[in-house]
Amino acid sequence: MAEIGHGGKEIRERILAPEEAAAKVRGLPRIPVRSQIANEIIDIAYGWFCPLEGFMGQEDVEAVCSRMRLKDGTVWSIPILFDLSQEEVAEHGIKVGDSLCLTYHDQPMAILEVEEIFTYDKGAMCQAIYGTTEEKHPGCARTYGYKDVFLAGPVTLVNRPVINPPFEPYFIPPLEMRKRFREKGWQRIVAHQTRNVPHTGHEWLMKGAWLQTYAELPIEKPLVGVLVNAIIGEKRKGDYIDEAIILTQDELKKAGYFGDHNHMTSLTFWDMRYAGPKEAVFHAILRTNLGLTHHMFGRDHAGVGTYYGPYDAHRLLATVQDELSITPVYSMNWLYCPHCGEITSEGLCNHRDEWQKFSGTVIRSIVQDGVKPPRLIFRPEVFELVLECAEKYGFGSPFVTDEYLAKRTPVFTIPPLQA
Ligand SMILES: [Zn+2]
Repeated sequence: MAEIGHGGKEIRERILAPEEAAAKVRGLPRIPVRSQIANEIIDIAYGWFCPLEGFMGQEDVEAVCSRMRLKDGTVWSIPILFDLSQEEVAEHGIKVGDSLCLTYHDQPMAILEVEEIFTYDKGAMCQAIYGTTEEKHPGCARTYGYKDVFLAGPVTLVNRPVINPPFEPYFIPPLEMRKRFREKGWQRIVAHQTRNVPHTGHEWLMKGAWLQTYAELPIEKPLVGVLVNAIIGEKRKGDYIDEAIILTQDELKKAGYFGDHNHMTSLTFWDMRYAGPKEAVFHAILRTNLGLTHHMFGRDHAGVGTYYGPYDAHRLLATVQDELSITPVYSMNWLYCPHCGEITSEGLCNHRDEWQKFSGTVIRSIVQDGVKPPRLIFRPEVFELVLECAEKYGFGSPFVTDEYLAKRTPVFTIPPLQA
C-alpha cells in the first residue's frame, strides 16, 4: 500500500542494502558532516521531509524564501541545505555529477549525488525565513554559520543509525508510524510538539487537544490518539536533558494519566530554527509525513524572544490550510485555579484573580530544588522520574550542563559499514 506524504508524494525510504552500500561508497571522497546535517540526512532518508529526496537546489531555496513553496509549488517553509567551504570543494575537486560519501564520526552514513553547486545570500535568506537579519536570532545565527557553498542533490543512507538507550523505542520513522496508527485503529491523531518535561499544564494541553480532535466521532471505542513528538537536536545549556524529556512524556501514559488507547511518545531529529510561524508550517509538514491528521499549535509556537506575535503562526497556517493535509488544533492555555481546586482553562472558570499560571521559571525552580511539588502541578511519577534521569543520565542535573554536553551518550551512532 502506497503511503502518501506531504505534497501528495509517496513516502519511500532511501536506504541501501548493506551489500550494495559497501560497494557504492568505495572510492568516493569522504566528507564529514556535523550533527545538524546528520539529523537531516535521517529525516530525508526515512521520509520525514517528503517530498524532498535530498538537499535543496537554488531554485527551491529561492521559491521557499520568496513564496514559502518548493519550485513545483508544494508548500515548504524552511530551506534544507548542505554546506561546504570553497576550500573543501577545491580540495576534493568536487563538481556537478560527483557522488560523495558523507561520514558521521568517521563512519560512512550516506551518499550525496551532487546535482548543483551554488551560493546564496544568507542575509536575504534570514530576512525571508525569520523576518529579521539579527544575529541574536538563533535561526539567523545558524544560517550565518553555514559555510559559503551549497551542494544540492539526492541523499541515500548507506548505514542505518543505531539508536542508543533509552531512545530506541521512540525512533519510529514515518512508514512504521503509519503502520502502528493503523494497528491501533486511530482515525485521528493529534501531534504534540515538545522539548519539555510535562507539568499538568502540558498534560491538559494534550487532554484538551484530544477532546477538540475527538469532536463528533463515535465513542464506543477510542478512535483518537495523541502523539507526543519530541524534537531531538542540538542542546543548549539549561535545556532539559533529552532523556528526561522523552521518558517523562512516556511516563504520563505508563502512570495511567493517558493509556495505550490514546497516547504514544516518539521523537524527530531536528535542530530548532525558532522560525515561529514558518516553523509551525514546517512542523505541520513533518507530522503530516508521520501520518498525523491534527497538530496542536499553542501561543507563539516555535517562537523566540519578541520576534513573532502570539498568534502569527495560527494566521500563517490559515493561509495554506487547504494545501496541508493536517488540521491545526489551536490549544487553549491551561492553569491552576485554587478556587476550583483543579486545572482549568482561561476560557472556562471565572476566578481570574485567583488563577495561578504555569510559569516556566517557577517549574524550573521546583525541579531544581527537588522538593516534591503538589500533584496538581507535577505528577509525582513524572517528578520522581525527572530526578532519576538527572542521576542516571544528567550527571546530577535534569538540565543540560557542560559535563552533559561533553560526556552524554549520543542519541544515535553510525556503526562501521559491513563489508
Ligand atoms: Zn476556578
